[in-house]
Amino acid sequence: MKTVLVTGGAGYIGSHTVQELIKEGVSVVVLDNLTTGHRDAIRSKYFYEGDIADTALVEHIIKEHKIQSLIHFAAKSLVSESLAKPELYFYENTVKSFVFLKAAIKGGIKEVVFSSTAAVYGNPKCIPITEESMLAPINPYGASKRMIEEYLEWMGKAHGIGWVALRYFNAAGASLEASMGEDHDPESHLIPLVLKTSLGLQEKLSIFGTDYATPDGTCIRDYVHVIDLANAHILALHAIEQGLPSNIFNVGTGKGASVMKIINESERITGRTITIESKERRVGDPNILVADNTAIKAALGWEPRYSDLETILSSAWRWHSSHPNGYRRLPHF
Ligand code: UDP
Repeated sequence: MKTVLVTGGAGYIGSHTVQELIKEGVSVVVLDNLTTGHRDAIRSKYFYEGDIADTALVEHIIKEHKIQSLIHFAAKSLVSESLAKPELYFYENTVKSFVFLKAAIKGGIKEVVFSSTAAVYGNPKCIPITEESMLAPINPYGASKRMIEEYLEWMGKAHGIGWVALRYFNAAGASLEASMGEDHDPESHLIPLVLKTSLGLQEKLSIFGTDYATPDGTCIRDYVHVIDLANAHILALHAIEQGLPSNIFNVGTGKGASVMKIINESERITGRTITIESKERRVGDPNILVADNTAIKAALGWEPRYSDLETILSSAWRWHSSHPNGYRRLPHF
């Protein structure tokens, strides 16, 4: 892989993937419209501020940098926003990806790694979740991503493109040197909100549901470190280059942690107690989501290296405590 185009390379998972690619000596070009990404998270020498649906720009970038490999992250990813504005999600994620991938393939892209999500499974009937589990998204975000997987299946066959879609479970953690981490606006994810509560940036942490059918009554999720996720993309690109048949893989650790476990472990790591309050269940939250990761381990040799809770939470804590405003700089007086 000579040069890789990374869309959404200014976002949370995209920026960590760019950093890992650069560590491997790969040349990276980032395309990001900075609507949710952060300029300060961009680690590549080449950056284009623009939209994935700007086909002239996409064709120019691919030609200019002689690119054959693509990792496509750029997307909107707030589940609650997708429920309120499905039209926005199907347009920004699905329609724009259709336009983008057509232009990218026309421009000469031969290998694609696509950022998908466990949200394509909805409320799974069996745990752990295999790739063969029924696809029944319960929000427009998951549905918008599933449609792109299907588009890739047909486009790959028709145009001889090798592709891998990665269905992430719960991305978490931050770069180990604490220069990059999670920074969403608004923030809705559990670990950043727990740590922001520890920092006094919010008064209390709401626990959405304490009466689930789990040992402690709170939801269980499969948290995977963002560097392990980043490495899954790189392994997938290498494997496609070596002729791996196009495929879809779950990316998760196969182990679950409850909301209470995350809170207790965070309190231990930060040394700070937080105030919690029990709230109603959040609409559309399944009680348990844990990946079966047999397929990605067998096909790509992927192994989570940083996804123990200690590393996830301590790296996230270093990031949030050193960047309480995320990438936003403090105002100058
Ligand atoms: N959660 C919570 N309080 C919060 C944010 C999240 O109790 O302030 C719970 C949420 O209901 C879910 C789990 O934490 O059970 C993980 O939520 P997150 O939004 O981080 O990821 P999701 O699994 O929804 O993608």
